[in-house]
Amino acid sequence: MLRLLLLIPTTTYRTEDFVAAAAKLDVEMVVASERPNVLETALPDNLMTLDFDDPQKAARTVAEFSRRHRIDAVVPVDDRTTVVGAAIAERLGLRSSSLGAVSTTRNKHRMREAFARSGVRSPRFTLLEVSDDPEDAAGRVTYPVVLKPTILAGSRGVIRADDPAAFVVAFRRIAAILASLDTPGLGEGATEVLVEEFVPGKEVALEGLLVREELHVLALFDKPDPLDGPYFEETIYVTPSRLPADVQLAIAAETRWAARALGLTEGPVHAELRVNERGPWVVEVAARTIGGLCSRTLRFGAGVSLEELVLRHALGIELDSLERERQPAGVMMIPIPRGGVLRAAGGRDAALAVPGIEDITISAHVGQELIPLPEGSRYLGFILSRADSPEAVEAALRAAHERLDFDIGPAGAAGATTTPGTAHTKEPCE
Ligand code: ADP
Repeated sequence: MLRLLLLIPTTTYRTEDFVAAAAKLDVEMVVASERPNVLETALPDNLMTLDFDDPQKAARTVAEFSRRHRIDAVVPVDDRTTVVGAAIAERLGLRSSSLGAVSTTRNKHRMREAFARSGVRSPRFTLLEVSDDPEDAAGRVTYPVVLKPTILAGSRGVIRADDPAAFVVAFRRIAAILASLDTPGLGEGATEVLVEEFVPGKEVALEGLLVREELHVLALFDKPDPLDGPYFEETIYVTPSRLPADVQLAIAAETRWAARALGLTEGPVHAELRVNERGPWVVEVAARTIGGLCSRTLRFGAGVSLEELVLRHALGIELDSLERERQPAGVMMIPIPRGGVLRAAGGRDAALAVPGIEDITISAHVGQELIPLPEGSRYLGFILSRADSPEAVEAALRAAHERLDFDIGPAGAAGATTTPGTAHTKEPCE
C-alpha cells in the first residue's frame, strides 16, 4: 500500500478536505504537525511532530521514519508547510518542485527578482530594511506604491500609499507588525519591507497543477470587488471567469512563464494576477493549493476534489480528468467590518435560505478579538455558492452576506481571546 505524508499545521483550515481526500484513496496516511498530538504515542506510525520552521531537521526526522515505513509522497497543505515539504521531498527523492524554487515563492522580494530576471510582467520594486529612514525613502519613489513585508501572507501588512506622508505611516505600521511577531525561525526577510509600483486593474486567481513542468489550468477565479487599497481585503471569488477568452489565455501564459521563472515543476500552484490594458501582471505564485475553505468551490471530472487531484499527482496515481465541472461556483471570505470582540453571529439560517447558497461556515468564535487588516489576517468565515451563472453566484453571495449579522463590541473587553503576534494565523483563499 502506498504511504502518504500530509503536512498539516494546527492553524490551517485545510485539514478536513485533505484528510477526506486521502481517506478516499487506498493509501496509508501519516499526518505531521508542528505540535505533538495526544494520540501520537498510541499511533506512532500515523502521527508525527515536525519542526516546520526547520526544514532540514524535519527532513532528517522523516528520513529516519521512512527507514521503517517507506514514504511514497509528501503533501504540504498550506503556505506554512511548502518549504518543509520540498525539503522532505528532496531528501527522500519524492515528486515535488525543488527546495530552491519553493523557497523563492515564500519571499516576495526573491520572487520579484526571479520575475524580473525572466521578463515576467510584474511590478517594479525596491527593498528596504525596517532600520532604513522612511522619510528619505518616501522621497525617492513614484506614487502610488504598495508596501509589504516580504515574508507574510494573506495580505497581512500589505498597504497602498499615494504620497510620502502615507508611505511613512505604512512603513512604520509594517515595522510594528514585524516587531510583534513572536515566532522564532522566521529568519531571512523578517526585517524587510518591499516597496512596489501599484498595479491598477482587475484581479484574478489561477489554480493550476504542474505535471512534469507543464501547467494545467484547473480554474480561473474573478475577484469582482475592486482591490485598490489602502488595504487588500479579499472578499468574493467566482469561477469560471467572465473575462474574454483571449485575456484568459494571456493570464494562463503569464502564469506559466512565472512558474518557469521560479523553477517550479511539479504540484499545485495558486497564482494571483492583475489585468489591465497592458496585459496580465503577476502579483504572486504560491506552490500550494488555494487557501481556506475556498477549494470547496471546485470539483473535477466525476466529483473529484482539488485535494484528491493533488494527492493523486503526488502519489503518481492516474489523474482521470483535470476538467472542472461546468457549474459556476464562488466563495466569499466574510470580511471583518471593524475591530473589536465578536459578541454574537446571527442570520446564518436566513443566509442559507438564499437560493444558490450551498454552505456557510462562521469560523470566528464568540468572545474572539477581531483584528482587521493590515495587522490581522483572519476572516469571519466563508460563504459558498453554486448557481447557473457567475452573475447569479455573485448575487447570491452578496445577498447571503447581507443577511448575516455580526455583533462586535469594543476591543480589549474582559474575557476576549486573542492570538497575539503570531506569524501563522489561518489562511484566507489567497
Ligand atoms: P499576500 O501574499 O500577503 O497575499 P500579496 O503580495 O499577494 O500578499 O498582496 C496581497 C494583495 O494586495 C494582492 O492580492 C493585491 O490585491 C494587492 N497587491 C499587492 N501588491 C500589489 C501591487 N504591486 N499593485 C497592486 N496591488 C497589489
